[in-house]
Amino acid sequence: MPRTPAVARTLPALHRALESLRARRATVALVPTMGALHDGHLALVHQAKRRASKVVVSIFVNPAQFAPHEDFGSYPRTWKSDIARLTEARVDLVWNPDVGTMYPPGFATRLLTEGPATAGLEDRFRPHFFGGVATVVGKLFTQCRPNVALFGQKDYQQLKVVTRMAADLDLGVKVIGVPIVRERDGLAMSSRNVYLSVEQRAVAPMLHGVMKNAAKRLRNGDDLETVMADGARTIGDAGFALDYFEARHAETLAPIRSIKDGPVRLLVAAKIGTTRLIDNIGV
Ligand code: AMP
Repeated sequence: MPRTPAVARTLPALHRALESLRARRATVALVPTMGALHDGHLALVHQAKRRASKVVVSIFVNPAQFAPHEDFGSYPRTWKSDIARLTEARVDLVWNPDVGTMYPPGFATRLLTEGPATAGLEDRFRPHFFGGVATVVGKLFTQCRPNVALFGQKDYQQLKVVTRMAADLDLGVKVIGVPIVRERDGLAMSSRNVYLSVEQRAVAPMLHGVMKNAAKRLRNGDDLETVMADGARTIGDAGFALDYFEARHAETLAPIRSIKDGPVRLLVAAKIGTTRLIDNIGV
């Protein structure tokens, strides 16, 4: 049975633990998470182990990236099973600050994100989101000083925002994107999938189906506008409230008119009942 990872809950404890990890010139990989860990998170951990000699996983449900009407209070918290999974994955250290440690009284700073953070995708529907993400990830990078950090392509725009932020602030962290891990029926794994009723869970994989079909049609030369309109209609007909279904340049996230403007990424966000799902796929 592997050893349970060390857990740090205060900054002095974190710094002590990191100091001992870094002895003998070890390199450190950081995997930031909000817990409720699933195989998608574990894929980041496995990549982390390949990229560095020591792996730190942070578990922090970040209030700064939730709007008041969003699910901060009810976000799934599954500490025991998270630790069991991280033990099995042989993670070295878990950084689990509480809100008061991350945002002590008087905290008054927030990063202003532009570029990929204003591409008109998630930012249109969650205007508070990337400022909150960039601020907490900037803090996590400063606290942990990792050599590399792993983020999922599941949150595609977030990956671009964090990559930009780390470069812009000279944080010296190499940000690495990891492909989306899916359930067998194609649904992208997400901590929020537990919110889905049996009926919603049965419909949810169609988001991936629609994107796969659209990507195939685009590769076959079908007109982009028609393909995207067909996809949006199919998603709506299945009972989703669509926020967006867009074709964007995979690197800049700029809108594109044809796949010749590519590389292209299709990105979708839609609500089923009260649960908001996001997904994306390369063309
Ligand atoms: P979260 O705990 O949801 O904030 O996610 C933490 C990290 O795991 C983020 O970098 C996510 O993009 C990544 N992640 C979440 N779900 C998946 C998935 N299905 N496949 C790959 N990465 C994921």
